Amino acid sequence: MTEFGHTIESRTRTFLEATHHRMLIGDQWVEAVEGQRLEVINPADETVLGTVPAAGQTDVDRAVRAAGQALENGPWGRMRPSERQNLMLKLADLIERDAKVLAEIESIDNGKSAQIAQAVDITLCIEFFRYMAGWATKIEGASLDVSVPFAPPESEFFAYTRREPVGVVAAVVPWNFPLLVATWKLAPALAAGCTVVLKPAEQTPLTALYLGSLLQEAGFPEGVVNIITGDGPDAGAPLVAHPGVSKVSFTGSTEVGKLIGRAAMDNMTRVTLELGGKSPMIVLDDCDPALAAQGAAQAIFFNHGQVCCAGSRLYVHKKLYDNVVAELAELAKALPMGPGLDPQTHLGPLVSREQLDRVCGYIDLGREQGAELVTGGARANRNGYFVEPTVFASTDDALRIVQEEIFGPVVVALPYEDLDDVARRANDTPYGLGASIWSNDLSRVHRLVPKIKAGTVWVNCHNMLDVAVPFGGYKLSGFGRDMGRQSLDAYLETKSVFMAV
Ligand code: NAD
Repeated sequence: MTEFGHTIESRTRTFLEATHHRMLIGDQWVEAVEGQRLEVINPADETVLGTVPAAGQTDVDRAVRAAGQALENGPWGRMRPSERQNLMLKLADLIERDAKVLAEIESIDNGKSAQIAQAVDITLCIEFFRYMAGWATKIEGASLDVSVPFAPPESEFFAYTRREPVGVVAAVVPWNFPLLVATWKLAPALAAGCTVVLKPAEQTPLTALYLGSLLQEAGFPEGVVNIITGDGPDAGAPLVAHPGVSKVSFTGSTEVGKLIGRAAMDNMTRVTLELGGKSPMIVLDDCDPALAAQGAAQAIFFNHGQVCCAGSRLYVHKKLYDNVVAELAELAKALPMGPGLDPQTHLGPLVSREQLDRVCGYIDLGREQGAELVTGGARANRNGYFVEPTVFASTDDALRIVQEEIFGPVVVALPYEDLDDVARRANDTPYGLGASIWSNDLSRVHRLVPKIKAGTVWVNCHNMLDVAVPFGGYKLSGFGRDMGRQSLDAYLETKSVFMAV
């Protein structure tokens, strides 16, 4: 079957034609106990793609119990690290085999370009499972020479540390990179020897369910990964508050992150929170304006601006400001918009009606508060949740469109003169996820980097990721890091063993 010149894989069709999807608990594909279901909408044409179970407290209990059993009594807890590694490598191979299928399902469910999803989302999933598989065999404690000052002088001691899996992990993920962010949680959890209950976002549950079948095909024992579908209040909230969960790994909005952090503290559940952002892009006066405009377009319009580290505030030195803003507007107007399956598409629909209303609401607010609309500024005149790529210009950092996360293809350009002052302005939001600096003047770049309060500072690029590089936020963008070796630590406890010899 071909749509928009794109030939859809037969496995994709078979998966989507099933329409009545089930969730994975233990090794069973099950309904929610209460029988409730949620609709999954195709954002490119607003049709219903199918339904998934709407999990509630009882389903959460079952899934956490299955994960607990798998950890305590199943073969997983006795597996050697090299066996865990091999299973993860097998899974990565299966994802690679079905990369086009997963990209197509992601595209149809989320709206993003299938080609870009395969090149970015799915490729990073494969690489991250492989990268983390390697760490499974390299988890080490330390041996320590110890002396106890208050013990009798002839006594001797020896101590060592063990790294142990933290326990059952609740992974709650958003809709903007559904499979990729799920992988950021699953891969270190599995490498560490944990078991998992994964809850994908209610808007985009489909690739997680497809992944469930690949986990089974790879041979993961039952209950090691359980996948429950449902919304935040009914499925997510009971999951993160469940006493059988030892660690919550959350990516999503700062608002929900605060709720989850509080709930986790009631049980002293370990928690990492990857939250929202309002990332600045700072263009210095020596930068080529054309390069800066291209960088800015990529920074804000990639994934339709539904990127936690999207470059949504564009600070340009006043010498270059007019040129960069004019050029960025031209690039925005030229971006091919369409359904994700169309190979020409760069800008797909936003994920949902709610997100469309939110982004259009912010565009209206920008106008009302006096920002100059340079280009875009409206819902696109077509079916589906499409919004025109929008560029505002302003000198006022206090505007709500400058301070708040819009999470859509909307950027505000702001001129500056003084480098110290722009560092202060770049830091002047509650967020601190990403930032980029554009310049070839290395000494000014190096002086600026330490002043920026953000988990990632890119130089002459934006939104670049590698599986070995930790990613996470300062301030209200959360705490903890996904990816890189550091992410593994969040899924391990340290046990000290102290022996008299
Ligand atoms: P969201 O916070 O609304 O939802 C995220 C997940 O949390 C979903 O699975 C949802 O069902 C669940 N949830 C909602 N309420 C809950 C509750 N009370 N208890 C438990 N779970 C609950 O976020 P979203 O709209 O899906 O995603 C967009 C947000 O995610 C943006 O703010 C974006 O910046 C952020 N994000 C951050 C990163 C990062 O790495 N820092 C990456 C991607 C997205």
